[in-house]
Amino acid sequence: MLTLRHLAADILREAGWDLPMLPIQWSPRMSRCAGLFVIEKDARGAWHPEIRLSIPLLRRRDRAWPVQVCGCHCHDPETVTRRILEHELIHYKLWKDGAKDWGHGEDFRKLAWDTFHHQSITHGIGSEERAPRTR
Ligand SMILES: [Zn+2]
Repeated sequence: MLTLRHLAADILREAGWDLPMLPIQWSPRMSRCAGLFVIEKDARGAWHPEIRLSIPLLRRRDRAWPVQVCGCHCHDPETVTRRILEHELIHYKLWKDGAKDWGHGEDFRKLAWDTFHHQSITHGIGSEERAPRTR
C-alpha cells in the first residue's frame, strides 16, 4: 500500500505542481470532515502547513459503494483517500502560491476542475457532510 507521502507526491507530480512535501498525518479523532488543511505558527512566527486525514472516515469499508467524494464516484477507501488528499493539496497549492484566499473560492474551483475534475468542493464523504453535528 502506498504511504500518504507517496500518494501525495504522486498527486503533485500528476498535477504538475512543483511544491515541497508537507507533513500529512492520520488523525484518530477527526470525524466531522475527512480531510483538513491547516497552517500553524511556531514560536518564532513561521507558518507550517499540514494536512490531516480522518482515520474513522477514511478507513471505513462498510459503505454503500460507490460513494461521492469531491463529486467523483469512489469504489474503495483508497480512492476516497486519494480524492480527499487531492482536495487538501489544492488548499496547499493556493496557500503556497501566496493566494489571499486559499479557501473554496473561484480559484479553488477552477483548479479542482481543471486539475482533478472534481465537480464538488467538500471535505465530506457521500451524504455525511449533511449529517447533523453531534458535538
Ligand atoms: Zn476544502
